[in-house]
Amino acid sequence: MPPLPAPPPINPGSGVAPVPPPPSEPIPTFDLRVQDLSHPGVAKFNWAVPKLNDAMKGAVQASFRWLYAPETIPADVQTILLVLRSMDGVAYTTGHRHFKEIHFSLDYIAKCSEDRDLAAKEIQGVLVHEVVHCYQYNAHGQCPGGLIEGIADFVRLQAGYEAPHWKQKGGEKWDAGYSTTAYFLKWIETRYGTGTVIELNEAMKDRDYHRRIFKKLTGRPVRKLWKIYRRSLGENPDLPVPVPAPGPGPGDEEKLVDLGGGDEMQERLIVAKDL
Ligand SMILES: [Zn+2]
Repeated sequence: MPPLPAPPPINPGSGVAPVPPPPSEPIPTFDLRVQDLSHPGVAKFNWAVPKLNDAMKGAVQASFRWLYAPETIPADVQTILLVLRSMDGVAYTTGHRHFKEIHFSLDYIAKCSEDRDLAAKEIQGVLVHEVVHCYQYNAHGQCPGGLIEGIADFVRLQAGYEAPHWKQKGGEKWDAGYSTTAYFLKWIETRYGTGTVIELNEAMKDRDYHRRIFKKLTGRPVRKLWKIYRRSLGENPDLPVPVPAPGPGPGDEEKLVDLGGGDEMQERLIVAKDL
């Protein structure tokens, strides 16, 4: 069989549209405010994260990669201010459309691992989680708090910054939040295709929330997905979940105590577990 003729060269004047260059990522300006340079968390932070601009940029890029298609990356956020200060809990994010503020506890940072790699991973994980909040959609503030937190930890998990105490587990509620919901979203992403969580986030842009979103994306209602997921973990979803013993346990490290909606989204993580 003779070789196929070579395709004709593309003539710039022939009406074939040139391929546009990939859109550049709108990286915001990063500002830093440190309250009390004598706090031991400051030295720990600088030791673990010597290149803060790169760390912040990496957190933004992780948010873009796992929650947006290249053509839907939001460009509204112009500045992210990181505030390092002494406070309870771990971190929270606040702000408005163009300006976001991430408050990160120096007390928490001071208690991070003495192993530099582990400390850097934990700090970067928290930064990724909070930066996700700077961008993610929330269905006019109606998205359940547990799903908001689960999406933030999903990005943290996919980016490789999961916390050492995280465990993949089921339980009663798919929207229990944080790592519980993050692993569930990862399972959905694996089962229904890369980009499913991008579509989930996109479905909450300027729209009201309804859990039918899950059925639209996967063909199954979220309660059914949760049952299948729990079975995949060896749990029997038809049996009642045993009540855990009182006291801090693997699921008690973080509790959401405040979550407002809209652009004024604020949240705070309380860590009950001593680190
Ligand atoms: Zn959060």
